[in-house]
Amino acid sequence: MLKANNISKSYNDLQVLKNVELDLMNNEVVSIVGASGAGKSTLLHILGTLDKPDAGSLTINGYDVVALSANKLAKFRNSQLGFVFQFHNLLPEFSAIENVCLPGFISGKPDAEVKSRGKELLEILGIGARANHRPSELSGGEQQRVAVARALINDPNIVFADEPSGNLDSKNAEQLHKLFFDLRDQFKKTFVIVTHNEELAELSDRKVEIKDGSILYA
Ligand code: ADP
Ligand code: ADP
Repeated sequence: MLKANNISKSYNDLQVLKNVELDLMNNEVVSIVGASGAGKSTLLHILGTLDKPDAGSLTINGYDVVALSANKLAKFRNSQLGFVFQFHNLLPEFSAIENVCLPGFISGKPDAEVKSRGKELLEILGIGARANHRPSELSGGEQQRVAVARALINDPNIVFADEPSGNLDSKNAEQLHKLFFDLRDQFKKTFVIVTHNEELAELSDRKVEIKDGSILYA
């Protein structure tokens, strides 16, 4: 589903990733762990096509994504990948349901289809009653659920999350993690999660540790 070969990335004189190899299977929760500054976000951004490697190849769902033009890549990313960030990145002026539906509208799917899927996702995530609230009216845990629903609106098979529970208290963090496992089971999706949360890392199907630019265990 996702195959990364020989990925390297430097910033100025700093080599952050060295010949990284990674294969992601369908239907797994993969955690990316390592010390602060180890290169976790850099790897996640490259796997998620938000950033380009200096060298190496990356194939996702059969597409050689390094070779795609910027325009095609933006379409690919919007329709086939989902993202959740530490700070939810929801648009403050839009309601929960509008935030969730936005990537669906961008993908060009019929409005009615997107809206009904958006409502369904909010229900599945336990925040159906919050659909018309703005992000500022929601708790941190609810905001992250909205972000997860938004990541799923186009039915991607991979969702990338960069410290999604980093800003949540332990109870909300645990609930969010449980949600990832439930969604993996229910929708057969793969979640790739940068995390400092040891519990999540231990529970995950695979733990990928980055040290000195290389993967210690994959
Ligand atoms: P982690 O997510 O493990 O904390 P990052 O991938 O964010 O690590 O960063 C790895 C290293 O690369 C750090 O030393 C960071 O300062 C550096 N870095 C990350 N992004 C950039 C950038 N855009 N420009 C320069 N240095 C960067
Ligand atoms: P995270 O909290 O996910 O590790 P960071 O705070 O490390 O994220 O990075 C946030 C953004 O800043 C990223 O887009 C990264 O590329 C950029 N960045 C990180 N470190 C540096 C740096 N030393 N110089 C320039 N940009 C950086």
